[in-house]
Amino acid sequence: AIQVRQLHKNFGDNEVLKGIDFHVDAGQVVCVIGPSGSGKSTLLRCVNRLEEPTSGQIFVEGIDITDPDTELDKVRSRIGMVFQQFNLFPHMTVLRNLTIAQQRVKGRGKTEAEKVARANLDRVGLADKEGAYPAHLSGGQQQRVAIARALSMNPDMMLFDEPTSALDPELVGDVLDVMKKLASEGMTMMVVTHEMGFAREVGDNLVFMDGGVIVEEGDPVKVLGDPQNRRTQSFLSKVL
Ligand code: ATP
Ligand code: MG
Repeated sequence: AIQVRQLHKNFGDNEVLKGIDFHVDAGQVVCVIGPSGSGKSTLLRCVNRLEEPTSGQIFVEGIDITDPDTELDKVRSRIGMVFQQFNLFPHMTVLRNLTIAQQRVKGRGKTEAEKVARANLDRVGLADKEGAYPAHLSGGQQQRVAIARALSMNPDMMLFDEPTSALDPELVGDVLDVMKKLASEGMTMMVVTHEMGFAREVGDNLVFMDGGVIVEEGDPVKVLGDPQNRRTQSFLSKVL
């Protein structure tokens, strides 16, 4: 589970997060939407400390990760992250992309790492691609490899930052299907997305951010169908 309390983040004079209170319970899927520049990625990046919060607290599985004594590597290894750009290693096969961090960070032997990798490739429907290089895969396949790579670290939760935004429209569905399956298996997920259908169908909670604050949140069906805040209404009228 993730709990964020009064999170502030400044870049110089620019206050990008202005007191965010937010939580994702175990097994829940929380979707985050909002206009460009509203602070969605910054919030996500604070949760695994890719960004240093200016003030406030973030608890991951009850551990305060803003506490200087917290072992960040340990916390990070429990959080899988998937970005818009897949960031696969281009000179390595799919299988090697999935085993390298398991061996280096988790200390797994090659045989075990490959076993875990193959199980996760199967999970994303790409068991037959283990010998391929990323350049020979479609964007959707590359993103599913990136998801399988994150899963191979056995994370307690997954953070997604616009995982389908770089994909051709016909490839989006396969990636969303993998995410839906993960959600149905009980994975705790925080998903920044423009896919309102996914948010409606899969999200337990929907958070609308604007200008560094959470403007509105609640049941996705309600927020999308009957937004209460004027800024939410205005945003949704442009994207729906
Ligand atoms: P998008 O939908 O375009 O991805 P976003 O909601 O994810 O937008 P962020 O990327 O969190 O928005 O950016 C919020 C604000 O923080 C923007 O004004 C951005 O310019 C600023 N910002 C983000 N990262 C940095 C950084 N490393 N240094 C300085 N400013 C930054
Ligand atoms: Mg972003």
